[in-house]
Amino acid sequence: MTPHELFKRLKSHYGSQNWWPAETTYEVIVGAVLTQNTNWNNVEKAIENLKKENMLFPEKILEKSPEYLKKLIKPSGFYNAKASTLRRLTAFVYNNNIKNTPTKKIREKLIKIKGVGPETADSILLYAYKRPVFVIDAYTKRLVRRLGITDKEKYGELQHHFQSSLPEDTQLYAEFHALIVEHSKKICRKSPQCDRCFIKNDCPESFSQEN
Ligand code: SF4
Repeated sequence: MTPHELFKRLKSHYGSQNWWPAETTYEVIVGAVLTQNTNWNNVEKAIENLKKENMLFPEKILEKSPEYLKKLIKPSGFYNAKASTLRRLTAFVYNNNIKNTPTKKIREKLIKIKGVGPETADSILLYAYKRPVFVIDAYTKRLVRRLGITDKEKYGELQHHFQSSLPEDTQLYAEFHALIVEHSKKICRKSPQCDRCFIKNDCPESFSQEN
């Protein structure tokens, strides 16, 4: 199955996802850090705390103490590391004119920030700054392997596979990643629900589950 075929199947089944669930660019950036190694429910609690304290502004995050920030983001887990990453990343976005910088250059700088790996950097580029960058996460890797889309496994190779197979389209990449997450949470879970999967007739993994 090609990436484009997968997109069409997911989109016709689940419809538009309209990600990312955030009101501002900065809220997307904060969410991209807080969602590392946790589920979205925990991120929502931390974001809610930040909103209640009127803290979802770069200036506020930089001026308040790290201890105060840790307390507010505690529900998202790993709050010591995430508070430090958030402050470093916030200083970067606050001091750089990202909107006028080429994507490749920002990406190189983002992934050099301690705590910001390729997945977080690409989520920020795609959903906060609307750049055509395909996000690869653990769900994508698992689904690609199960469907036999490619035998590539490394982040950069998988990203290249998707980007070279699809038009360079921010909206398409944003929808596609959201649809992969949706399918991976609902049906193609850690223990896949192949018997009720609408892709099962084209999925090699479903045959191996039956045998
Ligand atoms: S058939 Fe099974 S393994 Fe394949 S995509 Fe569906 S749930 Fe995942």
